[in-house]
Amino acid sequence: MAVSGKTKVFGVIGDPVEHSLSPVIQNAALAASKLDCTFLAFKVKSTAVGKAMDGMRAFGIQGLNVTMPHKTAVLNFLDEVHQTARALKAVNTVKNESDKLLGFNTDGTGAMSALRENGVEPKGKKVMLLGAGGAARAIAFVLADQVDELSILNRTIQPAAELADLIKERFNSKVVAYALSPLTLKANLADADLLINATSIGMKSNANKTLIVPKWLKPDLAVMDIVYDPIETKLAKNARAAGAKVVSGVEMLIYQGAASFEIWTGRKAPIEVMRKAALNHLQKVQKS
Ligand code: NAP
Repeated sequence: MAVSGKTKVFGVIGDPVEHSLSPVIQNAALAASKLDCTFLAFKVKSTAVGKAMDGMRAFGIQGLNVTMPHKTAVLNFLDEVHQTARALKAVNTVKNESDKLLGFNTDGTGAMSALRENGVEPKGKKVMLLGAGGAARAIAFVLADQVDELSILNRTIQPAAELADLIKERFNSKVVAYALSPLTLKANLADADLLINATSIGMKSNANKTLIVPKWLKPDLAVMDIVYDPIETKLAKNARAAGAKVVSGVEMLIYQGAASFEIWTGRKAPIEVMRKAALNHLQKVQKS
């Protein structure tokens, strides 16, 4: 749709922001939904997050995704923050409702939808989560009141222990934190139903790495690697070869974006269009 004086603006703020996939998937979704809207990337310095929120009101920007490193800082400049985002101290979606800025976090619900829409039901399962960074925290929070047991394994024990405590304060869940080691990885995986990698291991910069020894993987395991570039990580390849059910990080990317789209527009997100746009873009980037 051609941009006109009536076109509404959405966007993503971050620093760096040039490689964000949000413009790719959100513009595809807006166009497919025939909405007279556009989605842009704004590079915002850490010192200018408050000014960016003032600008959002001043320019009437309808919605923003918030990416690193502003997910926590942005909380100080919002009028209302959804309880999950407040507990996580991380906002990835801002909605402008008549100059009132509302903050949400869609990473956890995105991960949950990615699992369920791909035939993996975490309810009542033993789940092993690798990582205790921003994405892992959001996932743990949403999984916590659904699963039977949650083990959180992290290279540095402190954030994993803090996350486990935060969850135990809020939910009546069985959550245990471990320092990540070959011993704790192997022991926890032995009786896990679902393994989620939410560390950055497996990303393009260290694409040949995985924390999981292939022979530990088994056909009755489901594996979600939230790393989406490369599209199929080494862990995902090994899991597929072992006969495990695999959910790609691209799925979480799409469903967290879909949740933002639905918050902003009130419309059902066109998932297939968003998936196609993300995969086309990632395939092009990987070839270059
Ligand atoms: P983050 O907050 O920086 O957390 C990074 C995590 O990786 C921490 O738990 C860190 O452990 C761990 N880690 C880093 N290097 C490690 C190593 N050499 N060995 C073991 N653990 C290591 O990052 P994030 O925002 O949570 O993102 C994590 C990954 O998820 C990134 O690859 C990101 O692209 C991806 N992601 C995907 C989606 C999606 O929609 N699919 C959404 C968000 C993020 P320490 O605490 O010990 O440092």
